[in-house]
Amino acid sequence: MSKRHFFRFVFILLYCSYGQFVLADTDRIDINLSAQEIDYLQQKKQITMCIDPDWMPLEKIERGKHIGMTAEYMAILEKKMEIPIVLIPTVTWVQSIKFAKARKCDIYSLAMATEERRQYMNFTRPYLSIPVVVATKMDEFFIADISTITDKKLGVVKGYAFGEILRDKYPAMDIIDVDSLNQGLEMVNQGELYGFIGTLVTIGYEFQRNFVGELKIAGKFDEKWQLGVATRSDEPLLHSIFEKAIASISEKQKQNILNQWLAIRYEKVVNYGDIKKWLAGIMLLLSFFLYRYYVLKKYNAQLELISVTDKLTQIYNRVKLDDILEQQEKLYQRYQQIFSIIIIDIDYFKSVNDQFGHQVGDTILIEFSSLVNNNIRNTDLLGRWGGEEFLLICPKTNANNACVMAEKLRKLIENNSFEPFGSLTASFGVAEYQKENNSIKDLILQADKALYDAKKEGRNRTVKAK
Ligand code: GH3
Ligand code: MG
Ligand code: MG
Repeated sequence: MSKRHFFRFVFILLYCSYGQFVLADTDRIDINLSAQEIDYLQQKKQITMCIDPDWMPLEKIERGKHIGMTAEYMAILEKKMEIPIVLIPTVTWVQSIKFAKARKCDIYSLAMATEERRQYMNFTRPYLSIPVVVATKMDEFFIADISTITDKKLGVVKGYAFGEILRDKYPAMDIIDVDSLNQGLEMVNQGELYGFIGTLVTIGYEFQRNFVGELKIAGKFDEKWQLGVATRSDEPLLHSIFEKAIASISEKQKQNILNQWLAIRYEKVVNYGDIKKWLAGIMLLLSFFLYRYYVLKKYNAQLELISVTDKLTQIYNRVKLDDILEQQEKLYQRYQQIFSIIIIDIDYFKSVNDQFGHQVGDTILIEFSSLVNNNIRNTDLLGRWGGEEFLLICPKTNANNACVMAEKLRKLIENNSFEPFGSLTASFGVAEYQKENNSIKDLILQADKALYDAKKEGRNRTVKAK
């Protein structure tokens, strides 16, 4: 198959699966509880919940609060069922299991059914279905068929349902228990394990924090990690209520949550039943391998995107900014191509937090960065430098032109209303890369100094480095 045909084929697959995705996206359905179920909820008053306190981006307990993807799901379910779902804090997943057995919590927010767990919990249909992948070092080959790896050590987190399932299904595989995701990936990095098995999203999350550029996704299992809500088995009405509520969550809501926590879009994985209708025999097999290869490449591209994006504002993060600055320095040294930087710091941002709370502060940071990002030139690059400071890199731009740009942004910000806070201003420090500076560090120091002067002179202004 030629490259062109291959891409056309992949396009058709993606298009068709996208079509299915749109059709599946039903509007909000009333969850249709029976009189008995409504009665039960009224008596119950609140539902207590245990989660995995350390499983980002799926879920986590941070300062006593439930965050992550399942927190969003629970907020939706709470509304549909019209009953509060209350977090019972735990320190480990093992403790959550103990609590559920002792009936201290009525549900697990997210769990996979196993024989052992079915003895005390009922499981709803899955609402999250996550690809299971193998992470290896960068220089390993892609793995076409994971079940053939029997001569190398693969790690999984101890106590997770998937470890047991894989051991049953692939008895020849050399599966080693590790204490945590981070430890597993560290062992791969040190060469003590050949690979680590986990979900695409949790591995991706950890890659971004600790293993940028060192590890990659080398293969993918056919099975997915199917996760639903587990409810205490001695109150069976709870199970039927959650089943109904989960069934009524739309694909669109699911996609939104996924996008929000991963900053990327997932392609829906192809339904092979449909392909068989179109293609037969050898053509199918060939495409299958090519497609698999393509999907793995795509996962790696997605991970790369996660690793350069600031989670809150979705603009570039500090790692990426450092990268760009280095590239710009090289361009200057090789071709004398100039560039300037602008450090932007929001004025009196602390008062936003003080008056409206951190959460509102966060949404204002998001609005602020998208306002700036939508009003810069295509060639300019914006990232979050830290807190409420942003760095704008302007290639092929001298300091005077960068000041013009900064002034334009300054006025735009001044005239914008950041709800619910109202008006905000920002100060700008501008510096151009010059050979005498001799380093990016000096360039940043200069821009910082200019910003400091702008603050000192009364804020809401642009100052060019001397
Ligand atoms: P100025 O820069 O004009 O001197 O005043 P400022 O109030 O902005 O001062 P400063 O730079 O000292 O404080 C920045 C504040 O921004 C402190 C911190 O509470 C807040 N901040 C930093 N990062 C975040 C964030 O991610 N979310 C929220 N909500 N607030 C943040
Ligand atoms: Mg600041
Ligand atoms: Mg500030």
